Amino acid sequence: MKITAIETQVCHARMRNWIFVKVLTDQSGLWGWGEATLEWHTRSVVGAIEDISQLLVGEDPRRIEHLWQMMYRQHFWHGNGIVRGTAMSGIDIALWDILGKVHGVPCHQLWGGRVRDFVRLYCHLGGGKMEDFYETKCEDAKRFGELAHCAVAEGFTAFKSMAVPETAPIEGLQPLRYAEACIKAMREAVGDSVDIMVDCHARPSPRMGLQFAKALEPYGLYFLEEPCWPETMEDIALIQRSVKTPIATGERLVGIHAFRELFEKRAASVIQPDITHCGGLTEARRIAGMAEAYRVALAPHNPQGPVSTAASLELGFATPSYVICESVHNDVPWRQDVVTEGFVVEKKGRIVFPNQRPGLGIEINEGEVKKHPFQQETLQRSFHKDGSVGDW
Ligand SMILES: [Mg+2]
Repeated sequence: MKITAIETQVCHARMRNWIFVKVLTDQSGLWGWGEATLEWHTRSVVGAIEDISQLLVGEDPRRIEHLWQMMYRQHFWHGNGIVRGTAMSGIDIALWDILGKVHGVPCHQLWGGRVRDFVRLYCHLGGGKMEDFYETKCEDAKRFGELAHCAVAEGFTAFKSMAVPETAPIEGLQPLRYAEACIKAMREAVGDSVDIMVDCHARPSPRMGLQFAKALEPYGLYFLEEPCWPETMEDIALIQRSVKTPIATGERLVGIHAFRELFEKRAASVIQPDITHCGGLTEARRIAGMAEAYRVALAPHNPQGPVSTAASLELGFATPSYVICESVHNDVPWRQDVVTEGFVVEKKGRIVFPNQRPGLGIEINEGEVKKHPFQQETLQRSFHKDGSVGDW
């Protein structure tokens, strides 16, 4: 069995371009689907996949670890940067899809079988329409309460919001009071039985991140995400030591070595590797194994397209420390035209039952993909009040 070609198919899905990766083989009807979506870097990733594919064409797709080592180590530059990491992740996911199809079992069966009966989903407030949400500036905490109420009405028992405003490296009380008011409104809207997460998008400085973490501690967040830049783990570790709220991070980290540092510094209680960036399912499973040793929970980053979600769920059904799956369920109305999925979502409670189909259980309708060709992602620039550059 040999790989004959690796193709990319770009599908513009409003906020981002989904990059689907198709690994073809010399066996009739046998191919695998992966995803390598990386916002604002679509052309770079498509090019990187073309470069890496030269290493793999003609190789046996079932030798996944061997091929992963080739993708990571060969051609001198290691696969620890975001573009190459994303490219090899997309290919790796497709190889696991192929292996599941070869053996006629879902991927989670390949990894030791099912460790849970269902996986819980969480949503973003605004139902995936986050750019609309930002445009409102949402200066009214009441709106957070209303959106929280809507999420619960849609069946979710957990949701995430971006209720922490952008701040300069040091600011006074106003942004802290604003964030507190927003979280208070959400908590009052949904009560204690619903889990609330807050994503800081790594925009605060370490000291502002610490202040936000302290201010929001009384509201019992399920986790507080990226309270400051991931470049310095000591800063995140200091915040985690200072509050009982679980701190989550990891969506921008590539490879097991970055996560090793995070674990060694006890920087987070929840890790969020992105399976389409961190090195694919192969590396995500290694990271999950290391997380097990530190009793750290796993909640992979997954705002992208349907293959990423299928990969996250397969991992979740085979990984004990996996606690919840991020879902963007309402980003484009034609999502179900592009993909058929093997898993089943129960609307009440928003839980997912396992895929029974081989591999990732997913098929992409290539004709539908062609209806949504590449479009440049909307420019997202952020500046502080004085005109200096902020983080988006
Ligand atoms: Mg995030």
